[in-house]
Amino acid sequence: MTPNRQASPAARSRQAQAVDRIPWTTGSPRRRRPGYAPRPWVADLLLGLAGLGLGITLALVVSAESRGSLVAPGGLLLAGGRLAGFVGTYLILVMVVLIARLPWLERAVGQDRLVAWHRRLGPWALWLITAHVVLITLGYARLSHTGFLRQLWLFITTYPDLLAAMVGFGLLIMAGVTSIRIARRRMQYETWWVVHLYFYLALALAFAHQVVTGIAFLGHPLARAFWIVVWAATAGMVLLFRVLLPVLRNLRHQLRVVAVREEAPGVYSLTCTGRHLSDLAVSGGQFFQWRFLARGLWWHAHPYSLSALPQAPYLRVTVKGLGDQSRAVARLRPGTRVFVEGPYGAFTHHVRATERVVLIGAGVGITPLRALLEDLPGGVAVTVVIRASTAEEIAHRAEVAELVATRGGRFYEVLGPRHAVQLDVRTLRGMVPDLAQSDVYVCGPEGFNDLVIASCMRAGVPGDRIHVEVFSFS
Ligand SMILES: Cc1cc2nc3c(=O)[nH]c(=O)nc-3n(C[C@H](O)[C@H](O)[C@H](O)COP(=O)(O)OP(=O)(O)OC[C@H]3O[C@@H](n4cnc5c(N)ncnc54)[C@H](O)[C@@H]3O)c2cc1C
Repeated sequence: MTPNRQASPAARSRQAQAVDRIPWTTGSPRRRRPGYAPRPWVADLLLGLAGLGLGITLALVVSAESRGSLVAPGGLLLAGGRLAGFVGTYLILVMVVLIARLPWLERAVGQDRLVAWHRRLGPWALWLITAHVVLITLGYARLSHTGFLRQLWLFITTYPDLLAAMVGFGLLIMAGVTSIRIARRRMQYETWWVVHLYFYLALALAFAHQVVTGIAFLGHPLARAFWIVVWAATAGMVLLFRVLLPVLRNLRHQLRVVAVREEAPGVYSLTCTGRHLSDLAVSGGQFFQWRFLARGLWWHAHPYSLSALPQAPYLRVTVKGLGDQSRAVARLRPGTRVFVEGPYGAFTHHVRATERVVLIGAGVGITPLRALLEDLPGGVAVTVVIRASTAEEIAHRAEVAELVATRGGRFYEVLGPRHAVQLDVRTLRGMVPDLAQSDVYVCGPEGFNDLVIASCMRAGVPGDRIHVEVFSFS
């Protein structure tokens, strides 16, 4: 069934009835393909390669220096500047790879951690590039007995590719400054995202300057080849995994909205139909980036976790209206085309170490837990704990209850005002006596997650058995 905007009211009503009959809790496993298990060794291998690349970069830069160049006026400043420039650029390329959506890395590490690593490297890379600009300018100024600003002006006006590199440097600083937490909190996510795109432009602008004028390349064809391969591989990964693969996948699946339904106050489920969805390998707990091809929405993608495993030809997410895009979900019309990227995330059953699982959620955090519950292997003992002010606020409550009952698990609803009812150690142990021997999956608002993590730790759950999905990357 592929809805379109021109569908008659009768056809729409038939579609809506069909959506009501989707067997979300009892559907056939043949209607979906299990998600791929993560392979942690791939992450180790990539980490090793990144370290090796850094070692080669350092060796190339250091071996390009000579005693004569170091003792010349400004020689040490220039050598330091070159080292800072190459290492800084290398770190930036690593940052790009971290967020290039490499599927094996995404599954093994999780996007939240990859983004966190990307952020951690950012300041180092920016400081090194800034040191490069300052040291090289000082070094040349010393060499030609002139001032810093005069030398900077000479660079921009007379050296090939340096103007572009300077513009690139400015863009890099802009992307870096807007990513500082305080600045980012004051900006709309979309504004930050657009500014951050300049990061790629900055890299492109810096490339020619580095390969053409980088002294390490002079007389070193192998060094130049190595550096070009590093750049080309990085650009190739971005194009392949962030552009080509999503485009091909969407051409294959052709998702369209088929129904939007209120599941709890302000929380809407969005069901899409698509082609070949039984081929889409996805694990319960994973998320996609969703882009709705409607006016004002098409240009930004937002992450939403599946709230059920796919039941071909259907796919479902459940969204709480918080800001512009998430609130607009409630108004999406059947037939609206949808572009997704993913699946991403390591919040899946693959990461558990035991056969006892406790799923603890609050608010719209129930969505990945609901899909994860469905995806847990048969032999796993399950306890679900949902925190809410009232039972009506729990989205997909009946589905969770049914799934838990089918597998003989335990389902607790902890209801009441936030200040009066808390998931402290005593409450958790009361519901889950074997908590310390279990894997715990937590998803809810940030404060809630922190509290539950602290309670679980105090109850003796080892840190590596507490798996958390945070609904923001900030
Ligand atoms: C891995 C993950 C899974 C998620 N799953 C769900 C889900 O199943 N259901 C649900 O209702 N919500 C989910 N969210 C949260 C949801 O993505 C945000 O509520 C939504 O993007 C808000 O966008 P907005 O334009 O409506 O609001 P805005 O006002 O733009 O943003 C509100 C908050 O969401 C953050 N945010 C906005 N856009 C993004 C983005 N593209 N990436 C990361 N953070 C962003 C902002 O930093 C801000 O803190 C998930 C978030 C993440 C990171």
